[in-house]
Amino acid sequence: MHIESSGNEKDEPPALLASLKEFRSAGRGFWHDVPEAQWNDWRWQLKNRITTLAQLERLMPTLSPEERAGAQFANTKLALGITPYFFNLIDPADENCPVRRQVIPRIEETTTAAWELSDPCGEDGHSPVPGLVHRYPDRVLFLVTDRCASYCRYCTRSRLVSNASGYDFHPEFDKQIAYIAAHPEIRDVLLSGGDPLIFSDEKLEDLLTRLRAIPHVEFLRIGTRIPIFLPQRITPELCSMLKQFHPLFISIHTNHPRELTTEVREALGRLADAGIPLGNQSVLLKHVNDDVTVMRALVQKLLMCRVKPYYVYQCDLIAGSAHLRASVRKGLEIMKGLRGHTTGYAVPQYVIDAPGGGGKVPVNPEYVLSRNSDRVVIRNFEGKVFEYPEARDGRPLFKPSEDFCPPELV
Ligand code: SF4
Repeated sequence: MHIESSGNEKDEPPALLASLKEFRSAGRGFWHDVPEAQWNDWRWQLKNRITTLAQLERLMPTLSPEERAGAQFANTKLALGITPYFFNLIDPADENCPVRRQVIPRIEETTTAAWELSDPCGEDGHSPVPGLVHRYPDRVLFLVTDRCASYCRYCTRSRLVSNASGYDFHPEFDKQIAYIAAHPEIRDVLLSGGDPLIFSDEKLEDLLTRLRAIPHVEFLRIGTRIPIFLPQRITPELCSMLKQFHPLFISIHTNHPRELTTEVREALGRLADAGIPLGNQSVLLKHVNDDVTVMRALVQKLLMCRVKPYYVYQCDLIAGSAHLRASVRKGLEIMKGLRGHTTGYAVPQYVIDAPGGGGKVPVNPEYVLSRNSDRVVIRNFEGKVFEYPEARDGRPLFKPSEDFCPPELV
């Protein structure tokens, strides 16, 4: 029964949405004279990363004083590192470029609020052996490296990633694998870090083989931002190797539709063709994606790349991240602008990782307005209110007779 309406959401300007959804190549930019074979070689891209203030100043004379000061301090907190490919997505004329804000350090990173933490998700407190986080009953997070192709200024694991702050992270796989093997309740292993796809094919294959040899490990996952920072890494050889380990899922990480280039779409297509289900995790970031139209373009573009938008994270209370954290109010407004306004498959779950190690808590706009034993009052995406008569729970209608034999399992 429809009760009342509180009005419709406004649609985004169609031209802006269409422009955000266009697939473009990152181009060659400053590296136009590098031979094609080198440019497409992921090891060349890693070797030629932008890692110093001097390189940044040369490539981007428009560096602001805040960025220059940030880059000076970066290597004492979280290293500066940007692949040439990803650097080409930065608009040097726009200090608020959403790609730029994610990877160019700023002086604000050196200011830590009282409630910010170096380990905001309390991972170290849930680590039975170094590099393994056992927070949930049936799954573990396996931190396999502290290296990434490029470094995100809001990284939740900046305490260890890049080793700039001296965490000295040297995971010894034997200990972690022994723990997993000794705990039959672990059915799901998520490889993360750092970025596991930074390993050579051989090293990754060896690790996956050892995990697959544990009978109770049903499901493997890899969390990676490499398809976005370094699509050249997603070679046909890597995809053929990964497909031996099904069921294997990959979660990518992208925040703005401009990161989804033609190169990224092709790389993701190769992973999807290898039968790997793909999901995306985004972090809600101020002046990057804290906007309904930007987020709508991102999730729709992800589906075009065969990726299911999986989570949108409220930015963790990581030390020095206040300038990048958008409000929960904004996050809820965005979710309200997605649900019902676009394909259900395109709608991720918005979560807050509870500070200190409470785990992921789903956060949703209010759709259930009231509920009692007789009725549920709900609101739809247009703001219209409906009443649903509550059903009565009871015993299952089917009760097997005593001489019923269930079919044999084969
Ligand atoms: S890719 Fe992931 S682990 Fe690496 S810096 Fe970015 S958020 Fe951190």
